[in-house]
Amino acid sequence: MVVIGKEKISKARPYKKTSKKDDSPNTVIQAGSAVIGGGGLTIIAGPCSIESREQILAIAREVKAAGATMLRGGAFKPRTSPYSFQGLGYEGLKLLLEAKKETGLPVITEIVSLSHLDLFEEVDVIQVGARNMQNFELLRELGQIKKPILLKRGLASTLEELLLSAEYLLSGGNQEVILCERGIRTFERHTKNTLDISAVPLLKELSHLPVIVDPSHATGIASLVHPLSLSAVASGADGIMVEVHNDPKNALCDGPQSITPLEFRLLAKEAILIQKTLKDSRAAL
Ligand code: PEP
Ligand code: MN
Repeated sequence: MVVIGKEKISKARPYKKTSKKDDSPNTVIQAGSAVIGGGGLTIIAGPCSIESREQILAIAREVKAAGATMLRGGAFKPRTSPYSFQGLGYEGLKLLLEAKKETGLPVITEIVSLSHLDLFEEVDVIQVGARNMQNFELLRELGQIKKPILLKRGLASTLEELLLSAEYLLSGGNQEVILCERGIRTFERHTKNTLDISAVPLLKELSHLPVIVDPSHATGIASLVHPLSLSAVASGADGIMVEVHNDPKNALCDGPQSITPLEFRLLAKEAILIQKTLKDSRAAL
């Protein structure tokens, strides 16, 4: 049977609600004071894990002063080994909310179990981590709530699989979804993962949803975070999410990929500059 017209399109793009339509605008999401999508640059920064009140408050103050628009911090951590630090759990979440209250920064943190959902009431954006990208029960439930979700690409997931996971959220009724490219597993071993930078412009072509790049998990190497952040912005990403720690050597999680607040200050400045330069040069055309 020859398939033509609409049916052909729907077969080629099975993610109906996630795909870009010629006549509809891109999705813009408001999360507290942060706007994600719509031409601005979202800069999410903070530690991999919340470790103590002092740690999260100190980092929150520093990243805010340096230009972050949102604070990240893991409370429930999905760790490869059961013997690694698993996060402070609910205590960590409370500390993150304390940092939100003090700095005014909206916060993002990861959910690992539906049984925790009630605890996320005051969280501005819920993160679904790479390991849960295809946890369809979780996605189905998060599709029912009214809160932005940042959906990370799975370690070995295609873009189509990422978009279909987003479709679970959108088809459930939750329209506020942010896609996140965080590196995929390849044969390269110098880096933890390989940042698929082509995913950024491609996702922007295929979908109306905002796209954020996480350059920290993409390679696992702190010195690469700055150049990859800039390449993400130059490629059209709506924002970046960066791990920042005030004592990376002693971090309980992901120290080797964490940059210092001082390094973050320079990164944020250059990222904003690149985005502004591109905007200005396009406006002048
Ligand atoms: C994280 O953001 O801390 C994290 C665990 O990320 P990912 O799910 O991309 O590994
Ligand atoms: Mn991490």
